[in-house]
Amino acid sequence: MYDYLIVGAGLYGAVFAHEAKKAGKSVLVIDKRPNIAGNVYTEKIEGINVHKYGAHIFHTNNKKVWNYITQFAEFNRFTNSPVANYHGELYSLPFNMYTFNKMWGVVTPEEAAEKIEEQRKAAGITEPKNLEEQAISLVGTDIYEKLIKGYTEKQWGRPCTELPSFIIKRLPVRLTFDNNYFNALYQGIPVGGYTKMVANLLDGIEVRLNEDYLEKKAEYDAMAEKVIYTGAIDAYFDYKLGTLEYRSVRFENETLDKPNFQGNAAVNYTDVETPWTRIIEHKWFEFGKDEEGNDLPKTVISREYSSEWKPGDEPYYPVNDEKNGQLYAQYKELAQKESKVIFGGRLGEYKYYDMDAVIASALDMCERELA
Ligand SMILES: Cc1cc2nc3c(=O)[nH]c(=O)nc-3n(C[C@H](O)[C@H](O)[C@H](O)COP(=O)(O)OP(=O)(O)OC[C@H]3O[C@@H](n4cnc5c(N)ncnc54)[C@H](O)[C@@H]3O)c2cc1C
Repeated sequence: MYDYLIVGAGLYGAVFAHEAKKAGKSVLVIDKRPNIAGNVYTEKIEGINVHKYGAHIFHTNNKKVWNYITQFAEFNRFTNSPVANYHGELYSLPFNMYTFNKMWGVVTPEEAAEKIEEQRKAAGITEPKNLEEQAISLVGTDIYEKLIKGYTEKQWGRPCTELPSFIIKRLPVRLTFDNNYFNALYQGIPVGGYTKMVANLLDGIEVRLNEDYLEKKAEYDAMAEKVIYTGAIDAYFDYKLGTLEYRSVRFENETLDKPNFQGNAAVNYTDVETPWTRIIEHKWFEFGKDEEGNDLPKTVISREYSSEWKPGDEPYYPVNDEKNGQLYAQYKELAQKESKVIFGGRLGEYKYYDMDAVIASALDMCERELA
């Protein structure tokens, strides 16, 4: 008999498991995948830590979370500065003075602000009715046409004129020469990869992989006093009220026999004709070097294609609309009646969590549960 059965060896499960063990509890972690680390899993290919479930950049303003996670990994100084490629024209992201200089040749912040204002006025939109109108009313037509339209349409699989305006309430516009995307106090990539970081969290804890809790639920429930469940909440209840929807992403990975493909970790393809949304070149998260500081001769790239989710696909981004919100609320009510089970993490709470937020949420739960 264990004190806790933890379903899911992702960040939420690993943080809870670590804290429970530290509090003297007996813990068993299971995961249906063949590996630990959930969606932050990295796999070494040609000496490069490849982010198998999408590029993950750690960033936070939460000092408590930063002090916590740096016990388990040293972080490098990687700063996310994506590049936008519009039919071969390259622009800095997020929108800042480098972007405006390339777009319009403006040099000073005043000139850039005037140009944006001029385009906003010319568009004459007072009450934006859709995402296109919202974007134009915020940043003008040039930035919308070249840097927002195609990317957003690929991401959502629909024309911007059919997307609601609330998706982009505001757009970050910087009148400084600053390409630092996240602008967070603390950011970086764990040296040696995320998998190593999660392995450190799970050090000394029994972990069983390739084990699907829902296939042997009764057997597993009998093994522990309490269950921490970080799988999908609708799957737990056998989808009896319906299926929660997600947006999914398909990754096409390629190893190339050359040291440098695009010279940056992330390049967003903002035209609508290129079928992928972006290309990640994983080695640049770690400056193109292995842990000993040697240059790596090959490179691994991932093309990302945004896709409609269907049951059986990997669920990535919860769809935060009214229909799914209401369905989740109904599942949450059922979940509250499961006295032995705590639902947590991005799938258990049907919520988009950044890594720092999921760690904070797990630590909060530990404080309540393990006190
Ligand atoms: C494409 C993408 C990019 C992202 N990039 C960033 C980023 O740059 N920065 C950032 O801060 N955050 C990023 N995130 C968010 C980050 O991935 C999450 O915060 C984090 O993975 C959540 O951890 P979790 O433990 O809740 O879930 P998960 O990592 O999904 O872990 C849940 C685990 O439960 C297991 N499981 C599910 N059901 C069962 C079952 N029935 N039986 C056994 N095991 C089960 C799963 O296999 C999985 O391993 C990104 C997310 C996505 C989708």
